[in-house]
Amino acid sequence: MLTVTPVPCYSDNYAYLLSRADCEEVVVVDGCESEPILAAIHGRRLTTILATHHHPDHIGGHEHLLANDPSLRIFGHAEEHAQLRRIPGQTHGLSDGDELQILGERVIALHVPGHTLTAVAYYFPDAGLLFTGDTLFGAGCGRLFEGTPPQMFASLQRLAALPQQTLVYSGHEYLTKNIAFARHIEPQNTAIADRQKRCLDTRARGEPCEPSTIGLERATNPFLRSAEPSVQAAVAGRPPELAVALSAVEVFARLRRWRSSF
Ligand SMILES: [Zn+2]
Repeated sequence: MLTVTPVPCYSDNYAYLLSRADCEEVVVVDGCESEPILAAIHGRRLTTILATHHHPDHIGGHEHLLANDPSLRIFGHAEEHAQLRRIPGQTHGLSDGDELQILGERVIALHVPGHTLTAVAYYFPDAGLLFTGDTLFGAGCGRLFEGTPPQMFASLQRLAALPQQTLVYSGHEYLTKNIAFARHIEPQNTAIADRQKRCLDTRARGEPCEPSTIGLERATNPFLRSAEPSVQAAVAGRPPELAVALSAVEVFARLRRWRSSF
C-alpha cells in the first residue's frame, strides 16, 4: 500500500513523499525544496519526481536533488520537456492521458491548463489519489497566471468528475483563507461551516488540513460550485430569485477575481 507523507516546504508549500513499507525506493510529487525532502526520505532512495508545474516554489529543490543523484527521473508536461525547458533537469515529457507505473501503482497524467498552460495533475486511479499542484486547492483554486477562465474552469470540472472518494493533495496550505471565502459566498452552506470548524481546529494543533476528497470539494469549494443558484446569487449580488442568468464559466471568472481581492 502506498503511503503519502506531506512535506512542508517554504512558508506554505507541500511536497508529497510517496513510499511503500516493503520498498527502499521513494517518489516525490513536486521537488519544492531539497532540505526538507531529503530529511523526509530517511536514507531511502529517491528515484522519481513528478512535477505539477514549473513555478519556482515547486521545482526549487531539483538542482540539489539532482546533484545528489544524477540518475533521478523528473516528469513534467511534454511541452516543458520539448520546448519551454522551465522544469530544471526534466527527463520525461507527459501528454494528457499518459500512464506510468509509480511504486507499483498506475498513474495517469491529466493536463490541466489554467494556473499555467502546462500544468499536470497526477491521478492514481487504483489507489484513489490525486495530486493537483496549484490547480485545485482545498476550497479554492490557483490564480490564472497563463490560462484563461474557460481553460481553468474546464480543468477543474474534469477533476471534479473523478470518483467522490478520491483523496486530493494540493500544492499549498491555503485552506483557512479559502474556506473563509467559501463561507462568505455561501453562508447557508452547512458543509462549508463544518469544514471551516474542522480546519481551524486542525490548524490550531499545527497539523496540515490536507488531504481532502473530491466529494468534499464538490460540496464546499465555490470554484466547483459556480452552477449552484446560491453561488450565482452571491456573484450577482442579488437574491437567487432576482439573479440574472450568468454562465457557470462567467460566475467562475468573477469568483476568481473576487477571491484575489478578498
Ligand atoms: Zn504555481
